[in-house]
This record gives sequence, C-alpha cells and structure tokens, in this order.
Amino acid sequence: MQYPNTNNFFIVVEKKSSLSIRKDRFPLCYGKYSEIRTPDFEFRFTLNGEIKTIRGLSVNWPHPADQLKRTDGNDWVYYTVGDKSSENGIISWLGEYYLPCLPYPSNSVWEVNYFSNPAIMNGFAAWSQLYADLHGGSAKNRLHSRAKEIVHLILQNNDNVLHERAQQLHAIIGGGVTVLPPDTRHVDYEVIPLMISDGCLYHCKFCCVKTIQRFQARSKDNILEQIQQLKTFYGRNIENYHSLFLGNHDALASGEELICFAATEAFQTFGFGEYRAKMPMLFLFGSIGSFLKAEEHFFAKLNQLPFYTFINIGFESVDPPTLQSIQKPVDASLVREAFRKMQNINSLYTNIEITGNFLLGEQLSQEHDHSLANLLSEAEIPSPSKGAVYLSPLQDNPKRRELLPRFFEIKNQSKLPVYIYLIQRL
Ligand code: SF4
Repeated sequence: MQYPNTNNFFIVVEKKSSLSIRKDRFPLCYGKYSEIRTPDFEFRFTLNGEIKTIRGLSVNWPHPADQLKRTDGNDWVYYTVGDKSSENGIISWLGEYYLPCLPYPSNSVWEVNYFSNPAIMNGFAAWSQLYADLHGGSAKNRLHSRAKEIVHLILQNNDNVLHERAQQLHAIIGGGVTVLPPDTRHVDYEVIPLMISDGCLYHCKFCCVKTIQRFQARSKDNILEQIQQLKTFYGRNIENYHSLFLGNHDALASGEELICFAATEAFQTFGFGEYRAKMPMLFLFGSIGSFLKAEEHFFAKLNQLPFYTFINIGFESVDPPTLQSIQKPVDASLVREAFRKMQNINSLYTNIEITGNFLLGEQLSQEHDHSLANLLSEAEIPSPSKGAVYLSPLQDNPKRRELLPRFFEIKNQSKLPVYIYLIQRL
C-alpha cells in the first residue's frame, strides 16, 4: 500500500521482492523492505526501520541502476554498473553487474571515489532532509497509522544509533569482520556473521587482514551466546537473511564438530528453514593445512546440512619463490595437492563448493602468472560454473587498473571461472 504525503513523498510500508538475488536486475533489490520516494530520491529501509539504500531518480544521478547501500557494519558502499556492462565490462572480471565502491582502502582494480561526486553526495543530504521532514510533526500527523509506524521506526534509527548498532554487532561477535569470503558476492554480501574461531594457522607477510592472534576455536557456549544475541540484534529483519558466514580467517580449522554444531544451531535459531524459498548458504574460509586435513566423513556430513556451503581456500601461488617471498609457510606441492582436492570435492558433493584464491600484482614475477595459468589450464571441470578461482590484487599495487590485462591473460587460459577478489569488510 502506498501512502502519499503532502510533503511531496510517498511511503510504501512494506514491499516484497524475491529473496533470491537476481544479478541482472536493475536496480539490485531483494527481500522485504519499506520505501519512501521523493521526486529526486528513493530511500529503502530494513524491516527494523534502518536506512538501507539511497538511489537518485533525477538526471543528475550517475546511472539509474547505481545506488548507495549501507552495510550492517554501517559502511556506505556505492554500487555502480560502471562504464561498460557488456562483455568486457565489470561482469567479465567481477562476475557481477555491479561494482561495490568502498569508503575504505581495499584492493579494487577500479577505484571510484564517490565522495568527490556532488550528485552522489546529494543523496546523503537528501536523506538528512527526509529525516528532518519525517521528524517534523506536521508530516507525521497526516499519515495513515501503518505509515506512522514505519516513520516511528525510521526516526528511532538516526545516524548515531546506526553507528552504535554496528559497534554492537562487532561487540557480539568479538570484533569486526576484516574480510568476507569472495563467494558472499552471490548473496550481495548479506550474511549473518558468527565467529567460531579467531586467528589463523599462518601469518603470511603479504596479508592485510590477518590478526596477531594464534588460531583458537571458540567454545560452544560462546557460539550459542553469539547466536542468541545475533537473533535479538537482527530483530524482524532477520527474515531477509538466508546466509551465514562462519568466521574468522580459517573457520575450517575448527573441525567437523564445531562447524556442524554452529551451522545447525544458527539454522534453527535464525529460522533459516521457515519463510525462505531458497536454500540457505553457508560461507567459510579455509587454509591449505585445514583443507588437506579435513576428512571425507566431514564433507559427507557437511553435504547433509540444510545449506549450500562455500569454502574458500587461500592458495596464493603455486610458484615456490613467490610462496617464499610472501612468507606463506607452505610448499608448492601442497598447493597442487589442495587444488586437486578442491576439484575432487566439487565433483563429489552437490551441496559443497570449494573455491580458491591466488594473488595478482605487479610485484609478482611472470613465473607466478605462468605457473598459475598452467595450473588453471589443466584443471578438471566438475561443472562449468563450480569452483571459481579468485585473483586478489595485492593492496599496494600502484596501478591497479593496469592489472586487468594480466588478469585476462590468466583467465583466458583457465578451464575454471576466474574473477577478481574485492576485499570487503563487515
Ligand atoms: S592469508 Fe590467510 S592464512 Fe595467511 S595470514 Fe592472511 S588470513 Fe592468515
């Protein structure tokens, strides 16, 4: 139901799109939300009344499909369809039609500083103006009772409250999520984070997301406590989630019992089996060591969980001098063994998909690129779209856009899908 208002905006109390994310949809939208439209902007809100997206409707806005999206970590990310959406556009190197432009340093091959674009910044000014208008008593009093309810919720979530809520989320899970698995792109990075371990097995020199902690699994009590607090934190908007990220950097090393315990408890408490038409997704990172150690009965059990599970493995390189220079304490033969295991698991289990990361960078040798292209050209393909390989640009590349020809050279030789890894936090 749409409620017009004399202040020149329309309120839609609850809109429902498919929970499945259609990547080719313009603009990107999914789930249930409330909407307010002014002549120049469209604002969408979560079921808790938190601002979620802002999209310009006038000719000044860069593109009708572009929009600003606020994450649960309270970062405003600008989604652009870029300069080309054709064969050699964003889709060809990111696997997505939309490029998330981040408000913090990352490893993107294409930087869009949206803060310097007045048309985009007007979106924030329009949001402040809308908030002030909603706050003004005269507008509120003329609204229908259902519209009043949503306005009341929106007014409870001013910028300070949203900032505090992000801090609350991080406090529940014991810190921020410095990086999400690349596979979370399949759900537009909309995951509920649940930490089942901290630290990682290696402390590679190149890594910009590592913590100084040694690897340590969390206790079951800690996991249960997080689950209960997360359920309260997400409130009614939990209906819009069907994906779980088990953190942190090497959750796979936590072992079969803890992973299956956490996934099962979260599935039940978050109600993933209820309203969702789509199979929930589970994401986690694994290291070469934890992946090689994982036994067959673990994968068989994981395959039986009510999730489609992505495990993302950090391979980095198959070139021995490169592994040495980045101080990754694994041997190239182990990288090859884990890579073969990835293809084997992908062919055996319908509900499990192993993906892998390798590095990309000007600083890396031609031999790194050649050995990687060679490995990918010899890969067996269990399914044409399964088991993507992500190339992660090193963060200190001075000319990132110029990495794309190097990326395509590797991609063109690969039998597996190859995309760029954009490091995003939550
Ligand atoms: S690359 Fe992975 S294993 Fe290495 S330090 Fe970073 S998080 Fe840990």
